[in-house]
Amino acid sequence: MSFLASLPKVPDPVKKIPPPGFLKREDNLFTRKSRDVISLFRNLPTAYLYQLLGSVLILIFYLGLLKTSFFVRFENVIYDSFFRLRPSLASHPSVVYIQIAEDSIQDIGRWPWPRHYHAVMTHILSEWQAKAIVFDMLFTEPSTEFDDGALEEAMATSQSPVYLPVLLENRKGEEVWVHSLPRFESHAKGVGHVNGVPDSDGVIRRIHPYLQSESEIFPHLALRLAYDYAGLKLPPEKKLPFPRDSEGNVMVNYPGKWVQTFNHISYRDLLKSFQLIREGKPPIISPEVIKGKICLIGLTATGLWDIKANPIEAVYPAIGVNGTVIQNSLQNQFISPANYALNAICLAVIGMVAIFCFHPFRNFVSFLAGSALALGWGLTAYFFFAWHGRWLYVFHPILLILTLFIFTAIYNYTIGKRERTHLFKLATRDGLTGLFVIRYFREILNKAVQDSHIQKQPLSLLILDIDDFKKINDTYGHLAGDKVLKEVSHIIHSCSRSKRPFTQTDYVARYGGEEFMVMLRGAAITESAFKIANRIRKKVEDTAIKWEHHSLRFTVSIGIASLGPEEALPDPMVSRADEALYRAKREGKNRVCLERLSLHPFPHPSVDQIPPAA
Ligand code: GH3
Ligand code: MG
Ligand code: MG
Repeated sequence: MSFLASLPKVPDPVKKIPPPGFLKREDNLFTRKSRDVISLFRNLPTAYLYQLLGSVLILIFYLGLLKTSFFVRFENVIYDSFFRLRPSLASHPSVVYIQIAEDSIQDIGRWPWPRHYHAVMTHILSEWQAKAIVFDMLFTEPSTEFDDGALEEAMATSQSPVYLPVLLENRKGEEVWVHSLPRFESHAKGVGHVNGVPDSDGVIRRIHPYLQSESEIFPHLALRLAYDYAGLKLPPEKKLPFPRDSEGNVMVNYPGKWVQTFNHISYRDLLKSFQLIREGKPPIISPEVIKGKICLIGLTATGLWDIKANPIEAVYPAIGVNGTVIQNSLQNQFISPANYALNAICLAVIGMVAIFCFHPFRNFVSFLAGSALALGWGLTAYFFFAWHGRWLYVFHPILLILTLFIFTAIYNYTIGKRERTHLFKLATRDGLTGLFVIRYFREILNKAVQDSHIQKQPLSLLILDIDDFKKINDTYGHLAGDKVLKEVSHIIHSCSRSKRPFTQTDYVARYGGEEFMVMLRGAAITESAFKIANRIRKKVEDTAIKWEHHSLRFTVSIGIASLGPEEALPDPMVSRADEALYRAKREGKNRVCLERLSLHPFPHPSVDQIPPAA
């Protein structure tokens, strides 16, 4: 068996080296008996510790971010989509909307209408035994005494209690309460505010249960109605039994789209029905629909001002918000937002699970784990929202998972690359001289033999041996020998053509103790190979190194061989170069010998031994 074949195969330097893990500092952590936390951390490889530290810092950053409103807009987008995904809630039967929609405007005329229409409406609802009559409008526009008197009288004589809104408006930088005319308000059973709390995107997701400005404080009109409907006393703000957000607002739980919400009755149809009943004809709307109900009268015609956006629809009438708050209050159905502590705990737990999943990091598996975690959390939050009306943050945790994934991926890529380079160097380089080890050199040589045949380029090999090296060791010690080895390696390397493009680069390897091999690609034996060999020999001869006040001088012998045209393996070339080296030794050392003519079918130099330059 040839010397090269006898060597164990090395893995492909780049591909087959184990995937990036982290070199452990000490022995296997899990075989140790003591597993206390400190020793656990002390034994973790440094790279893991840094990865852990980086991940924990990201987590802490996110906990801080949770306190700001930086990403609340995105949380709101998810909150709104939960509303749209969730099945509609059952409507509470207590509320009836009497809507002033396009049809009513068309038939009755432009808004605002003369107030005697509302007087008639009050009268009808009272006669039909409504539980409450709510005008979700402020009677502030100018009117006639006839109209105002009619409405005032209708309110004063109504069997059903009348409710009126107040609105807190910002006028020239000052907050002022806008009331209906005192003559109407004095007949109202209840007055409540109808201000929503629009978020930065204009969507009404919450309302103030109580609103105070200067000395006046009003409950929300819908709360007042709900408590009166239930026959309960409206408690003060602090004792309200509903879940609130950090600012004390309640979050409206919209049951569904406007058209599907509660009973909708056209203002015009109601007036007509009353007329039809008087004429003894069947009405469009039966009085039964009104009996015992809270009747919310308000504008829903698009183009008029009372239109807001809610999480489900961009166009949603304000009376819809009020009706929903009545339903939410009666059924204690408001959305319960998680406070900072709960969101922070969820974020921390998710972050830690993500850190655990991404350790050890494997691109695809970690990606799957991260996606599963994000999806799992999204579904959990949706489940809590849809079934329990609980609102937990989703965007922050998912963004955290993504950030941790990207951080770990980049970190691992960087560390892995550094480690691969390090391992590659360890596997392929000789520790003392930094030259290639012979196992790796063998791989390169095999490949170069194939390339040489394909490209029809010559390939030559030098084998070098330091002359009388044992004497140096014996006389000056092994350290001096080592220094000589390093110096010779340096000279060989500097004389070879290692700065050429990769495919033409010369490779230098340490072949045993004080022997070296140089593979010369594209170099014919007579020309470049011989020149390079002689350059090395000469340079070594001319070099002296200092060692403990001595000047050490040394020489090398070199054998050269070239690849034959029929040779598929490098082994015969190695043998011939070895033989040439042996001859150089025998014939006096410090010289370059070419392989014998008889061994080589190529055109050959006329001399098979070139003596050292004089
Ligand atoms: P020749 O001219 O015939 O080659 O004589 P030589 O003394 O150089 O030959 P030999 O092969 O007998 O000696 C090689 C010596 O190199 C033997 C060994 O102790 C020494 N050696 C091998 N590896 C190392 C090393 O890494 N460091 C040092 N200092 N010496 C080494
Ligand atoms: Mg020697
Ligand atoms: Mg030797």
